[in-house]
Amino acid sequence: MFCRACGKEIEEGSKVCRFCGKVLVKQEEAPAPVAETPAPEAPAAEPPKAEAPTQEAKPAGGNGNENAIKTLEAEIDRLNSEIKDLEQSIEQIKTDMQTKQDQIDSIRDTIKILQK
Ligand SMILES: [Zn+2]
Repeated sequence: MFCRACGKEIEEGSKVCRFCGKVLVKQEEAPAPVAETPAPEAPAAEPPKAEAPTQEAKPAGGNGNENAIKTLEAEIDRLNSEIKDLEQSIEQIKTDMQTKQDQIDSIRDTIKILQK
């Protein structure tokens, strides 16, 4: 290798030139050019905190929503009651259907007997 300062040939791996005294570092030890590293992402700025309303905004008039809710709940009760009535009607209809089916079966039995 050659001294980078004076250019004279020196022993391979020398850390100091024995001719000029220049301190040498091996190529691989030379500080590598700093690779262009992408700048670390800046910590995300805290999103501006929305001012949380401390109280639910209520429409003027006070308990308007409350009354509306009560009305709607009453409507639900009424509809549930109607459903129960309809379910009873369904049961009655099923019973009637079964009764008529039994009559049909009975008539068919009679027909079979008559056809013999
Ligand atoms: Zn030298």
